[in-house]
Amino acid sequence: MGQYDIERIKPPSYLVVHHSVSPEGDVIRNWSDQQVSDWFNEIGRTRTYAGYSHSYHYDPRTGNETFSAVQIALWPNGDDLDIYTDSWRVIPLVDDWYGEICWHAGNWEMNKRSVGCETYGRYDDKPLPENAVWALAEWCRNNIDKENNGATIIMGHKQIYPTACPGDWMNKIDLLIDMINNPATYQGKYFTFEEKKQMIDQLKAQIINLQSLISTQNTNIATLNQKNQELINENEQFKIKIQDLTGQIGYGQQNKDLLQSLENYKNQLLIEQQRREQLEVLVKELQARIDKIGA
Ligand SMILES: [Zn+2]
Repeated sequence: MGQYDIERIKPPSYLVVHHSVSPEGDVIRNWSDQQVSDWFNEIGRTRTYAGYSHSYHYDPRTGNETFSAVQIALWPNGDDLDIYTDSWRVIPLVDDWYGEICWHAGNWEMNKRSVGCETYGRYDDKPLPENAVWALAEWCRNNIDKENNGATIIMGHKQIYPTACPGDWMNKIDLLIDMINNPATYQGKYFTFEEKKQMIDQLKAQIINLQSLISTQNTNIATLNQKNQELINENEQFKIKIQDLTGQIGYGQQNKDLLQSLENYKNQLLIEQQRREQLEVLVKELQARIDKIGA
């Protein structure tokens, strides 16, 4: 806690929302917590704290002195997490949002009793995405609103100071209050950074399971292919055997034809024998006649 924080009124009972009028686009969208923090540190050092050599506030990640003019920033998550829908997160920019006064409201009395929240982008002419409001509602419920027993007062910067900030963000303040007070109405519809990360981790685990199943299936297919090859080889062996047997059947047929010819010869022989026997009988008769005549 720095020398300017002595006047802090605790618990801080106001949340003041700002839009950062940051450049928009993929590069800045994908910034890490530290990049966002460094950016607000630089802006605060040259503008808000111009002429001051110390803020006595420290970056919660690096421990280096930071000149951020707000306690927290509301930022979209990078594209790599953008699977279902856009999601946002709250990034702490000082190490003690509760005890440290940040110079954001343009009004010292309000600074003393409030937490300032910067928001990615500008909302002069477009609405703030509801996922952003949900992420801030989650943070408020678990932090500032908890300290105030549900009595936090939420304001837009322009309600305190003559500025256009936070543009159309003003029209989402009622939604923010309802999301803080009635989270059950919104659960499953919006996702915080942590919830989304959890979903992605689950999907990654499912992918690993599927890859393992695919690997098992590939092994099964390889085994089946091997069996199939074995059957093809066996079939080839059978074909060769069938060729052998067909050849043998051919020889068998030839034998049968020869036997038939032999049978035919035998029959002819029998016929010839019968004819010879008849001739012999005839010869005997003729001989007998000749003998008779000779006698
Ligand atoms: Zn502002």
